[in-house]
Amino acid sequence: MTDEIVVIEGDGIGREVVPAAVDVLESLDLDFEFVAAEAGDATKAATGEALPAETYERAADADATLFGAAGETAADVILPLREAVDSFVNVRPAKAFPGVDALRPETDVVFLRENTEGVYSGHEDRLSEDLSTLTRVVTSSASRELAEYACDFVEDGRGPAGDPDEGFTIAHKANVMRETDGRFRDEVAAVADERGVDADEELMDAFATKLPLDPGQYGVIVCPNLAGDVLSDLAAGLVGGLGLLPSANVGHDNGLFEPVHGTAPDIAGEGVANPTAAVLSAAMLLEYLGHVEEGQRVRDAVEGVLSDGPRTGDLGGSATTDEVTAAIVDRL
Ligand code: ATP
Ligand code: MG
Repeated sequence: MTDEIVVIEGDGIGREVVPAAVDVLESLDLDFEFVAAEAGDATKAATGEALPAETYERAADADATLFGAAGETAADVILPLREAVDSFVNVRPAKAFPGVDALRPETDVVFLRENTEGVYSGHEDRLSEDLSTLTRVVTSSASRELAEYACDFVEDGRGPAGDPDEGFTIAHKANVMRETDGRFRDEVAAVADERGVDADEELMDAFATKLPLDPGQYGVIVCPNLAGDVLSDLAAGLVGGLGLLPSANVGHDNGLFEPVHGTAPDIAGEGVANPTAAVLSAAMLLEYLGHVEEGQRVRDAVEGVLSDGPRTGDLGGSATTDEVTAAIVDRL
């Protein structure tokens, strides 16, 4: 059966790294149909809308979407797109690669971040000249759904250690936000218990100290929305930065796959962006669509190129995006 993949390059280096990722996918000879769609700053300038209804609907109807980056309009593009694919979990691996300078080379963690509620549920009010408020939303259903996903994830050996016995860590602040994070923690722990998966916990502030000091003790980390956003960026800093890291917004029968980095306006248009994050996002897309072996092959090819070169400027090399992409495709 043909899988329909919507491709949204967006702005800046999205226009360079997404085509690179599509080249890699095309080299695999799988039954994919690529459908191009527009979103972002340039789309807004041309049409008045950052995310045209047509793009939203295409993403909603597709099997998966590969997205690059959007500039000023990022929030107007990415938040609705996550909703279009009905995403309930944001998957953010942070792994140090051989041959790449990393603050903590032993880091190999995966964040599973709740992707629909918490403080990002969008309910802010200005009540007076002096007072603004934010409503924090936590439901048992969303917490349990994330927990079920986390249990599947570790049971399938998709955690960094590949060992289901490693279980996962819940990072929360239930000692202060007793009602909301208390609910989150209790529900996630209850599902883990029902499923026979080992779950330990960390207070997120203490965790923010312990992770950089000793990342080797962590594997899969399950977080509420804002905590996952901040802590996964912290982990990105441990492994050598933004140009390398992929992410997946996973929904029920759809997903949106995107590099963690943005439009990189300082290098956009020069053909020198590192395609690694986009290509690894494509590897996550492959795995999501059931092409687990191909996903692993892409990962291995990327790791081979990172370790032996050619490398782009952000990694101290002088290769172009196209040269790195060709080297990845060659290895495949
Ligand atoms: P945005 O507002 O779109 O997020 P930004 O200015 O924050 O843009 P990022 O894309 O987040 O830029 O990148 C931050 C820095 O990391 C920039 O200096 C950029 O050049 C560099 N960078 C990010 N991604 C890559 C990449 N794929 N290859 C090379 N350098 C990158
Ligand atoms: Mg940025």
